[in-house]
Amino acid sequence: MSLTLTEARARAAMISEVSYDLDLDVTSTEGFRSRVTVRFRTTGGDTFLELHRAVSLDVTLDGAPITTYDGRRIALDGLAPGAHEVVVDARLAYVTDGEGLHTFVDPVDEERYVGGYLGLDITQRLFACFDQLDLKAPITLAVTADPTWTVLSNGLPIYGADGRFEFATTPPIPCDLFVVAAGPFHSVAWAHRGVPMGWHARRSLTAELERDAAELKRVTEVCFDHYAEIFTEPFPFDSYDQVFVPELNWGAMENPGCVTVNEFMLPRGRVTDDDRRRRAMVIAHEMSHMWFADLVSPVWWEDAWLNESFADFMGFDVAESVAGYAGTRVSFEAAFKPGAYRADRRRSTHPVAPATDDVPDAATGATIFDDISYAKGNAVLRQLVTWLGRDDFLAGVNAHLTRHRFGNATLEDLLSALHAASPRDVRGWAELWLRRSGHDTIRVTRDDRDVPVVTRDGVRPHRFTVSAYTPDLKPVGDRLIDLAGDPVPFPEWAGLIVVPNAYGETFARIELDPASAAAVANGLATLPDPLVRAVLWATVLDRAPAAAHLNLLTRQLPHEPSPTLVSAALDRTLDDLVRRRLTPAEVPAALEAIAAACLPEAAGLSPAPDPSRGPGPSQVSDPSGVPDPSRAPDPSRSPAPDDQRAIALARGLARTTTDADRLRRWLDADSTDHGLRLDPDLRWLTIRRLAELGALDAAGIEAERRRDGTNIGELGAAAALAARPDPEAKAAAWAEMTSDPTVSVRRFRALATGFWSVSQRDLVAPYLPAYLEIAPTLAARGSAFAAAAGRAFPALPLTADELAQVRASLTADLPPVLRRLWEDELDDRT
Ligand SMILES: [Zn+2]
Repeated sequence: MSLTLTEARARAAMISEVSYDLDLDVTSTEGFRSRVTVRFRTTGGDTFLELHRAVSLDVTLDGAPITTYDGRRIALDGLAPGAHEVVVDARLAYVTDGEGLHTFVDPVDEERYVGGYLGLDITQRLFACFDQLDLKAPITLAVTADPTWTVLSNGLPIYGADGRFEFATTPPIPCDLFVVAAGPFHSVAWAHRGVPMGWHARRSLTAELERDAAELKRVTEVCFDHYAEIFTEPFPFDSYDQVFVPELNWGAMENPGCVTVNEFMLPRGRVTDDDRRRRAMVIAHEMSHMWFADLVSPVWWEDAWLNESFADFMGFDVAESVAGYAGTRVSFEAAFKPGAYRADRRRSTHPVAPATDDVPDAATGATIFDDISYAKGNAVLRQLVTWLGRDDFLAGVNAHLTRHRFGNATLEDLLSALHAASPRDVRGWAELWLRRSGHDTIRVTRDDRDVPVVTRDGVRPHRFTVSAYTPDLKPVGDRLIDLAGDPVPFPEWAGLIVVPNAYGETFARIELDPASAAAVANGLATLPDPLVRAVLWATVLDRAPAAAHLNLLTRQLPHEPSPTLVSAALDRTLDDLVRRRLTPAEVPAALEAIAAACLPEAAGLSPAPDPSRGPGPSQVSDPSGVPDPSRAPDPSRSPAPDDQRAIALARGLARTTTDADRLRRWLDADSTDHGLRLDPDLRWLTIRRLAELGALDAAGIEAERRRDGTNIGELGAAAALAARPDPEAKAAAWAEMTSDPTVSVRRFRALATGFWSVSQRDLVAPYLPAYLEIAPTLAARGSAFAAAAGRAFPALPLTADELAQVRASLTADLPPVLRRLWEDELDDRT
């Protein structure tokens, strides 16, 4: 049972002045020792510390042994008022699902990495603690580990010799934001404005880290300077490390002073502009959390959205306008905001700011980290900044940060600070935008003189740009408008095409008038501004009937110049339309049409020698001694934009084509160094499709796994083996997914990706009843597995009978995460 709101309130009322002195020993591979001294004051009575599944433990309260432990909680009964000290000396097991002290052995060099990459309800799997946000505490850490390792944590290292690593005491932080990362990391360290900084990655990613080090440092410094300028509170911690850690369950995590980052952001092979934008966005996102989440933290999980919406808004905004990554907002509009609209139409939607009582326990809090809290919250905050003005917004935020520094605060606290900073009715705005789910519709109509009129169907005030175009889509002009109950006519634009919310300032469904819609359908890809195209791609594909969707995609995709928009349109078509909204019979023709739209440009990746790419990759060797044939001599250079577009289309082709000969030629040309260079990612996509088409057998896949040699190669091979169109291959993959208790979350996900091939419906659809039966058991392994089990829902068009089976399964008592994901799947298919 997770902590309830009632319990958290009672504990916060009786406990204060908490501190932790933590000593971890990770030298054994069998399990680890966690010894913590918890000091606190109390008004007296009964309370408890959380500690999840200790293998063994000794506990003393003020020096006297206590023994009441149920596997989750250590009871502290009959406390006298005043100061107390509890010492918990425990042995715990390592985990491989990220939910505890995670271990990872690198297949490249057999090096071991150990990390506590924590979060909601996970710190109690590492040490005994009061695991709630509003009992912030200073944490002092010491670690015993391999003396050759690097050990990183929130505080600055102050001692390291003979395998003993000690860290400076942190300021008060929520214990879920504690972090430790240990192993033979490669590091790039420097100081900026007097703050020690570092980037770190596994030793076998040394070349990749060195390749990108200059850029990573530059973005870090630019963001740091920017926040130093806009926030009046100084940077709150003593150091700032960023660590690429293996098998992180999230994109990144805002641990104070030591951010953990998912390794997919340090790719092998090419780094595309989209990769760079996303990484800069994440750097800016996590750094903004140092103030908003870490310096000032929520009281309870209902306000977790506020952290994430604020950081998501800052991340995209700062990457685009401060760090110099033009096009970051284009990717938000094209690849993130459509998910928020979809989420806002499901039965599971909720107000951006839920009521406190709607989050009765920590387990419910875990469901808040969704597209509403990130992408919709980001869009809504952008509308707030547009509506309030940036200066007033920041004045309110700064007053809030200063008032609650190193403490906890609620949405109401922020609103009162914004209210004081602005003449506008911030509370009324929040009631409409934050306290209600759903969104308005903004329509274009025409009066009898062909004058465009913009109207709102809904309740919220909006401020956004309306753009006008000639009938052949040449830009005419922009106008910023406020839209509420009264229609806004544009007499100066009679007869022209108009696009409301052209730069995505607000969050609303857009319905164009028939003339504008027809012009856009014919010429979308010719519009000059990629941000307007991103908004329009998202608008015209939103719930378009299948035939119209495919027609638009196949006509516009070959002309769309932006690799970001090509990728987003393809992902949306393959993941949303083909897998969820077509009938089974419509799938083959749709895949063929998509492949045909990708082909001309993707075919440009021909196996002809290309001297501009420099000497062959075989001349470069990795310092780890493992040759990486995909690495070119100057991999820090982005491919030219046209090249990136060809890669985006090649990815689309590799997911849809039935032309196995072409895919095999790609592999051969890559392997034999004839100028074509497939990035590991695209190579594995190609291998999986070949396997799916029956054109690559188990031995061929195994050869590819050995050729790659990394953890990514292991996962790629698992997915390819599961994708083979043969009943025995499917049965073997299914058995590993469902009957092997040692299968990791990542391997399970890779197997599921290969297993549910949309081209093999006849072979895999019969597994639906077995999936519905086993998923609740898999979900019981933990929250990471629960999410993976839910996301392993068949990624296929389902028949009415099959959908009825899913609905029938929902009548059972299901883990909340699984129920939520299944209901979302059903809602996304209507
Ligand atoms: Zn965040």
